[in-house]
Amino acid sequence: MPNDDLFCKIAAGEESAHKVYESENVIAFLDINPVNPGHILITPKKHYNDLLAADDEILQEMILVTRKVAAGIILAFDEYDAFNLKLNNGRIAGQVIPHLHWHIIPRKSGDGLTQWPGKQYGEGEAEEVAEKIKNQLA
Ligand code: 5GP
Repeated sequence: MPNDDLFCKIAAGEESAHKVYESENVIAFLDINPVNPGHILITPKKHYNDLLAADDEILQEMILVTRKVAAGIILAFDEYDAFNLKLNNGRIAGQVIPHLHWHIIPRKSGDGLTQWPGKQYGEGEAEEVAEKIKNQLA
């Protein structure tokens, strides 16, 4: 069932986007506010709110399209030889468009982007945290 969000509209051709690739169920298009030129959004044509809502088949297709498009970006621009793959899953994580998508952000030396800061676990905390997660996955 299509939603009313921007990416459903782009998938349906009701809103324009600079598409660079399309498979049966997935589209890849330029982010309108690129971190670096060639910043791409990968999204399913069908609506899923986020990664957790998506089925296995669409995720497989998305990652294969991602690899293809990322390789194309690297080939297309001499200055890029790396990229970040970024998913903002949920509002608190920075997800603005409530339709599953992730970002391919091409990277070049000196582009000014930095990695997020890492904290340290306290005594015994890592074991406790890992155990909590493992219990949900068993
Ligand atoms: P999010 O924060 O949800 O992970 O990413 C949403 C992305 O959509 C942002 O990077 C933003 O620049 C991009 N965006 C917002 N509006 C439009 C639009 O109308 N067209 C395109 N191509 N990208 C958009």
